[in-house]
Parts: sequence; C-alpha cells; structure tokens
Amino acid sequence: MEMILLGLPGVGKGTQAKKLEAALNIPHIATGDIFREAIKNGTPLGKKAESFIEAGELVPDEVTIGIVKDRLGKSDCKNGFILDGFPRTIKQAEALESILSEQNKKLNLAIYLTAEKEILIERLSGRRICEDCGATYHIKYDPPVKEDICDECGGNLIQRSDDRKETVEKRIEVNKEKTLKLVEFYSKKGILKEVQSTGGIDNVHQRLLKLIEANN
Ligand code: AMP
Repeated sequence: MEMILLGLPGVGKGTQAKKLEAALNIPHIATGDIFREAIKNGTPLGKKAESFIEAGELVPDEVTIGIVKDRLGKSDCKNGFILDGFPRTIKQAEALESILSEQNKKLNLAIYLTAEKEILIERLSGRRICEDCGATYHIKYDPPVKEDICDECGGNLIQRSDDRKETVEKRIEVNKEKTLKLVEFYSKKGILKEVQSTGGIDNVHQRLLKLIEANN
C-alpha cells in the first residue's frame, strides 16, 4: 500500500501516520522529521533546510524531492509506505509520480485529513516533542505521565521552534493554497479520500483503518 497523508500543519498527519505504521507494518516517512534530524546533526542538508523551517516556509522543491527519492529507494519501502508532509506542492506531486513509476509502482491512496483552523492552532501550540526520540505529545490532549519528560525514553520534551504561535499561523497560511491544489490534483486522479481528523486520536485511527481496508 503506497499512500500519502495530506492536510494542514497540526491536522494529525504525524500522529496518525505513526499509528498506521505500527498497524500496517510499512514505514512512516515524514520529510519534516528528516529535516529536523539533519538540523540536529548539523549535516549539509540540515544547514540548507534550517532557515526555511525556522521561518515557517517551505524548503525548496529540489532539496526535498532529492531526499524523498533516496528514502523511497530503501528496501523497507518494498511493500509500501506512508508519506507524511510530502508532497506539499504540485511539483513534488509530479516528482513523486515519476519516482514511483521508475519503480513500477503508483500511489494507491491520498488521504486528506481535515479540521478547523482553531483546532489546528490549539494542537500545534500545545504540541511537545522529545528532543531525543522525537515522540510527540500534547499538553492537554496527550500529556506525558511526568511533565516535560518523554514516556518512551525519559528524554526532555521541548516545543518545536516552528510551533510558536507566531509561526503556526504563518505555516497554516503558507500551506493552505498548496494543500487545496494537491487535493484537486489527487481528486482528478480518483485516489483522494477525505477524513475528518477530530473526535479523538483513536477514533480517527479507526476511520483510517476502515478506509484503507476498503481500498486495498
Ligand atoms: P512538518 O513536520 O511536516 O510540519 O514540517 C516542518 C517544516 O519542514 C515545514 O514547515 C517546512 O519548512 C519543512 N518541510 C517539511 N516537508 C516539506 C516539503 N514536502 N516541502 C517543503 N518543505 C517541507
């Protein structure tokens, strides 16, 4: 199953993709995670991406497409993948088609997760991530057992610098028009399914599993 999760920042793509990865046993590939890891390690990719991410802007297509091409060529993608945060532009969507067609594959499903803007802002500004393992929490909806400490590895929980309120609104605006273009792109291809991403993490997960089963 080759699928992508589309939707504005804060809609729950990462949360749901992690749960689907465990349920379906295919890798969750998040371009945002790849960039954050590269920044943490001070790699050349991290240096290229950092200023765009800090400003809430998109990293240039050439950079992003290159890393996705490499990642999808890895052997753990042979039975499929869940892409989260890619594509974000039509150019990236077209590049994904050619990467997959070189591998004699094509996308099965584009899932569009939706929630109101106020919900997105609340989710993003309350989000905390573990600086060691990247696990995500929400101060109200999914808090850790011990405040500011990761349940999984005991690492410190921090706020992503682009999750500050000023940057959050900008990220939503930057992504809105592009997301709607992608929705149209995949809708024309007949593989778009819209899922409401509200009503609790587990309920959304069950909705997604049903949808995936029906389209497999
Ligand atoms: P995310 O974790 O998906 O919210 O991504 C965090 C940031 O990484 C975004 O605000 C962008 O600056 C950058 N980024 C992630 N994925 C992409 C992409 N497909 N194209 C361009 N920039 C991206």
